[in-house]
Amino acid sequence: MTSSNQDLVIGLDVGGTEIKAGYLQGCEIIATRRWATEREKGSDHAVDQVLLAAKSMHDEFPEARAIGVVVPGVVNTKTGVAEYSENIGWRNVPFVKKINDLTKLPVGFAHDVRAGGIAESLYGAGRGFANSFFMPIGTGIAGAIILDGEIYDDPYAGEIGHLDVNSGYMCACGVMGCLESISTGPSILRSYNSESSNNFTSVSQVLEAMHNGDAIAMKVWKEAVDAIGFALAAYTNILAPEIIILGGGVSKAGEDLLKPISTYLDSRLTFQRRPKIAIASLGDHAGMIGAGIFAARQNK
Ligand SMILES: [Zn+2]
Repeated sequence: MTSSNQDLVIGLDVGGTEIKAGYLQGCEIIATRRWATEREKGSDHAVDQVLLAAKSMHDEFPEARAIGVVVPGVVNTKTGVAEYSENIGWRNVPFVKKINDLTKLPVGFAHDVRAGGIAESLYGAGRGFANSFFMPIGTGIAGAIILDGEIYDDPYAGEIGHLDVNSGYMCACGVMGCLESISTGPSILRSYNSESSNNFTSVSQVLEAMHNGDAIAMKVWKEAVDAIGFALAAYTNILAPEIIILGGGVSKAGEDLLKPISTYLDSRLTFQRRPKIAIASLGDHAGMIGAGIFAARQNK
């Protein structure tokens, strides 16, 4: 299918800080708009901001045939309800009904990371691969499992961030040792700053120090990427992805991330099919394009 005969749709990617909205045709972004989520004003207000974004996009782009919305947290795609988000604070919000009432458009609904995963699979770094794993590494670590070209859509699946990598640190989830406690952006900074006299505020500073020969930066980065490698080797043994796609803020490290993880996997995998490792190619737009994919899947 070429992009010219695909539907015109609206995609909304709701995050803790902002709502990214796109007027889309397949992976082609015709226009983007942004709204602040304003979660500090309460979760009811954040829901109103999502509805405002949906209504405004519908008013501005009346040719759109459907609208897709993707949100973080525990998402029930069968009932159309956002059951829980620790980040935004809402409970049991029936987004599909609310947006349909407001716009009268068919509404696609999904989890933000799984939407990003299907977008990378269809239009991004995972194109051409049936089995892939999309892993954003940012302030948290999540995972979207793509099997036979389709997202595995269980609200509790893909929590690779809470695999026990024996980190020695307490995780926000309440137990010791999770991948998130050593390999996220904030964890890398905490580990570095606790041992160094520097007080860095971004992972890129740690990487720069590492390239300048800072031994603490080298050690902290190695611990973080080895833990990611350990988790990905475990995933590979169970689901044998053809490609693993790394996204999120930490993936901006590029080769500094890809190279050591590849080396780690080479040391751990022998008879298994060795997955390709790539950096996500849709960047910040993956969730929004994924929202558009779920919109386009709605009945005509
Ligand atoms: Zn945890």
